[in-house]
Amino acid sequence: MTKYVYLFTEGNGNMRELLGGKGANLAEMTNIGLPVPQGFTISTEACTKYYEDGRQINDEIMSQVMEYIVKLEEITGKKFGDLENPLLVSVRSGARASMPGMMDTILNLGLNEQVVDVIATKSGNPRWAWDCYRRFIQMYSDVVMEVGKKYFEELIDKMKADRGVTQDVELTADDLKELASQFKAEYKAKIGSDFPTDPKEQLVGAIKAVFRSWDNPRANVYRRDNDIPYSWGTAVNVQSMAFGNMGDDCGTGVAFTRDPATGEKGLFGEFLTNAQGEDVVAGVRTPMKIAEMEQKFPEAFAQFVTVCETLEKHYRDMQDMEFTVEHGKLYMLQTRNGKRTAQAAMKIACDLVDEGMRTPEEAVAMIDPRNLDTLLHPQFDPAALKAAEAIGKGLGASPGAACGKIVFTADDAVAWHDRGEKVVLVRLETSPEDITGMKAAEGILTVRGGMTSHAAVVARGMGECCVSGCGEIAMDEANKKFTLAGKTFQEGDIISLDGSTGKIYDGAIPQVDADPNNGYFGRIMKWADEFKRLEVRTNADTPNDAKKARELGAEGIGLCRTEHMFFGEGRIDAFREMICSDTVEEREAALEVILPMQQSDFEALYEALEGHPVTIRFLDPPLHEFVPTEEADIKALADKKGKSVEDIKTLIASLHEFNPMMGHRGCRLAVTYPEIAKMQTRAVIRAAINVNAKHPDWNVTPEIMIPLVCEIKELVNVKKVVVAVADEEIKAAGVDMGYKVGTMIEIPRAALTADEIAKEAEFFCFGTNDLTQMTFGFSRDDAGKFLTAYYESKIFESDPFARLDQNGVGKLMKMAIENGKAVRPDLHLGICGEHGGDPTSVEFCDEIGLDYVSCSPFRVPIARLAAAQAAIKHKA
Ligand code: ADP
Ligand code: MG
Ligand code: MG
Repeated sequence: MTKYVYLFTEGNGNMRELLGGKGANLAEMTNIGLPVPQGFTISTEACTKYYEDGRQINDEIMSQVMEYIVKLEEITGKKFGDLENPLLVSVRSGARASMPGMMDTILNLGLNEQVVDVIATKSGNPRWAWDCYRRFIQMYSDVVMEVGKKYFEELIDKMKADRGVTQDVELTADDLKELASQFKAEYKAKIGSDFPTDPKEQLVGAIKAVFRSWDNPRANVYRRDNDIPYSWGTAVNVQSMAFGNMGDDCGTGVAFTRDPATGEKGLFGEFLTNAQGEDVVAGVRTPMKIAEMEQKFPEAFAQFVTVCETLEKHYRDMQDMEFTVEHGKLYMLQTRNGKRTAQAAMKIACDLVDEGMRTPEEAVAMIDPRNLDTLLHPQFDPAALKAAEAIGKGLGASPGAACGKIVFTADDAVAWHDRGEKVVLVRLETSPEDITGMKAAEGILTVRGGMTSHAAVVARGMGECCVSGCGEIAMDEANKKFTLAGKTFQEGDIISLDGSTGKIYDGAIPQVDADPNNGYFGRIMKWADEFKRLEVRTNADTPNDAKKARELGAEGIGLCRTEHMFFGEGRIDAFREMICSDTVEEREAALEVILPMQQSDFEALYEALEGHPVTIRFLDPPLHEFVPTEEADIKALADKKGKSVEDIKTLIASLHEFNPMMGHRGCRLAVTYPEIAKMQTRAVIRAAINVNAKHPDWNVTPEIMIPLVCEIKELVNVKKVVVAVADEEIKAAGVDMGYKVGTMIEIPRAALTADEIAKEAEFFCFGTNDLTQMTFGFSRDDAGKFLTAYYESKIFESDPFARLDQNGVGKLMKMAIENGKAVRPDLHLGICGEHGGDPTSVEFCDEIGLDYVSCSPFRVPIARLAAAQAAIKHKA
């Protein structure tokens, strides 16, 4: 018989897979003697089983749950539905990886009309009793029955207006009792039956709701963004309640052991008196800073400080905790390794090493490479920032610089973003429904909410700039405008946000790039470079990109696309003439014009790389991308070639292809127009000779990469042309210089015949964009349209163009590597598709034995860190 349910005393911190993060940590905290309200965890396996059984909780699981209710009743000395000493519980979801705000919690479960009277009388605190009951009806209706929060909130607002008060805490016991009955009426109106009174029935409903919430759209989006497999499932925690809403000697709080925005050591968080659950983060009342707790709750605060120290030492990482104080006594409700900004992650990792808690390897392994993105993106120009005058200030909830046009809804943020606008999302407060809009925005500004509000927590998780709780804003969401510092801002107006200081600026402030080579970031990257095995190169076509990539730590160019070298001024005309030429001589003459320009482009690239390797891919796109479309240009070309406009148009029409991605491109161009490959070879070799003459110690050894090969004879054909020209140039210059000729592996047939291709190719570079396209038979340009449906139908969990498909494409790669190496043991192997900068794909590349990954300049640090983490993991 499978065990599906565990008391907190039966579990421990290593059981995340089974108990979820929250459950495992509740068990761990229990084991190390911290004050945790007791309870039990229903395992993630029960969730998986629930889905396997067609969304049913089977009898076996159900009977174990019932058995554990009895155990919990024994432990607490309370009983479900009892009229003497009733047990009230929370029902909380908890997946293996924390998914903040994704699944909803129900508090005060176990209440009904009789029980609420019992606790009201026994406690002498009817206000508390009715507050619990109305909350429970509200949460249960929302989470279990999906009635929605809105109606209940409207009723509360109406009640407050009737009573002439502004805060929930000002409502009396009678008001809350009245609300509870209004809520039940609302429930009946919406659902058509009475609110359930049997605590066990309530519990079963709540457990099902948690399981069901694993599959809600928000959870699905979050999982996709964070690489959390659907198959993991969520656990359910049933925990006896601690009450923070019993009066002014009670309260609830959230805190971090270090500042999640900066990483600064010290308690950081908020506490709200006479409150429950999410009140502290929901922004209904402004909470106090955690430090202020010391005066008002000296004993609980002292206990809490000790608990924080214990937890940090125990987990050897910054902790994010939830707790409640009931009549001055502290209860711990949750702890986890806290989410943090990229800046904070760097500082904390370094500090933990300096404090002797972590080794450098562990520090490197702690950092989520995906977070580096924000650090590499522009910050405000310090001088411009100093000169600018802020028009308002909220909390610096998540650092970064954001500048964009104001939008007021998450949907608008997405729509504007999709048409290429940079937007700042301005809201009263955010909720989980806003996630996609928050992601689409450059930054988020909220009127309400503290440092641990939804907006703040989610923005930090996304590494996105957020300024929260700017109460100075007079918001008019309905009319899409707000007033700040005497000025009215409309949709589309530009503002800038500084997520570190919380300052808000009218208009745009110029931005500059961040520095990855110094400070904590530099220290982490230095360690990463020590640990990694893979070489990290960059995909760069211009000296500027190459320089940027070098600054970011690139050790070479893995892919230089040469197509843009045909587009510049003076080049495109010549190239068009070449396309329209009738004879080889004419074509060569036209290319002769482009040769010196390409040569100087390559020289500049070699200079930027200072002797580090440069792989140059020969012309890849189909010719029709180069021909003129404007009437005037067509006419000019006709005149130049002494042809009629009609002739040129006919020629252009003849270049049309139904499926250009599989058309006349790649090495196929070099087969039909060897002149192009000759010209490019000359440019590559002459440039290297010149740069080597200037910098004899660099020893530039160009790597020529032939694209889109599917058959060895194609490579033989093109290589012959390349080698003849290269040897001729080297001989003419009288130098001793090497070069390499290799190929991209981007057509499945190339991977399948790698043993043959390796006889000619000195290196393989996996072009996984095309390889994915051709292995799946999905057009890179059109797949987006149906992939969304694939995610929704759970056919795919991630985009195969972003995350390497290890089962299919990866299998082709492994096969090509094995067969290629069998023929040529020193075959040099790399990857230059989008996947080269994706951390999980990098890990796979390390595993299958590639020599290098190549990615866009801004992803170079991500790849370096991912490569280090892969090496550390594979060593272990
Ligand atoms: P989330 O994962 O969204 O934080 P939680 O399950 O942690 O959801 O709970 C939501 C809120 O309810 C938190 O503020 C938490 O501290 C509070 N809470 C959960 N269980 C209890 C309990 N047994 N007693 C008191 N408060 C609780
Ligand atoms: Mg929580
Ligand atoms: Mg390609």
